[in-house]
Formats: sequence, structure tokens, C-alpha cells
Amino acid sequence: MGDYRHWRDQAGAAAQAAIGLLVVEDHPAARPCPSCARLMQRVRVGATPDFRLDRCAACALLWLDRGEWDALRSAGLATSLEEILSERWQRDLQAQEVRTRRIAQLREKHGAECMEELARMREWLDTQPHRDELLALLRAGW
Ligand SMILES: [Zn+2]
Repeated sequence: MGDYRHWRDQAGAAAQAAIGLLVVEDHPAARPCPSCARLMQRVRVGATPDFRLDRCAACALLWLDRGEWDALRSAGLATSLEEILSERWQRDLQAQEVRTRRIAQLREKHGAECMEELARMREWLDTQPHRDELLALLRAGW
């Protein structure tokens, strides 16, 4: 991470230049740190496609598989590694994943058409000044 920070600070705007989209050859299982041999943590970069970096927090080391650096650059994330490694980024990704799973379950249970209609109704309700009263009327069958 020290080398990375040095590069980022020196490269300036050039570091942020996006390049063409590349395929990542990700490694699915945790691997040992090349420095201390402890298993490295798998850190998510984004929810879709599932793309993770290997990190050893003890050694402040980040391991990138073939294509991962280019993929980070193509996503415009080359200067955001510290943000990606932050708890907040990781928490937001998890929340996004939970929400995506929940939507998929609801669509499976009630059907896509029903969920789209429900989303349309919610969107409309959210624009109404007496939203809660309207919802109560709906439930009560006024
Ligand atoms: Zn290590």
C-alpha cells in the first residue's frame, strides 16, 4: 500500500485515466499472504461483476490477480483503493447485495409484473403529501 500511495500521489490526473474494459481472472478462494503466509482477506470491489482483491492487513499488502489492476483502472477506481478497502465501502456493497437478493426473492414470490406495479404505486405514494393517510385508507379498504 505504501508503493501504491506513492504512485497515486506522483501520477496525479494520469492515474485516473480510464482504459478499455478488461476481463478479470479472479481467484475464488482465500490465498496465503506472500509475505507472512496468513490467509488474506477477500475484499469486494463492486457487487457486479463479483470482483475481489486479496489483502493482508497485517502486512499492509494488497495482491492483485492478472487483469485486476487494469480492471480497476478501466472502472476509474485506480486512485480509490483506500476507499475500496474502507469499512464503509464494504458495508455499502453488502447492503446493496442484500437488497438485490431481497428484490429477486420478492420477484420470484409475487412475480415481476406485481413487483413493478408495487414499485410504481410506491413511487406515486412517495409524491403524495398525505402518503400515510392514503396507505391507511388502502389497508382499511375505506
Ligand atoms: Zn501478510
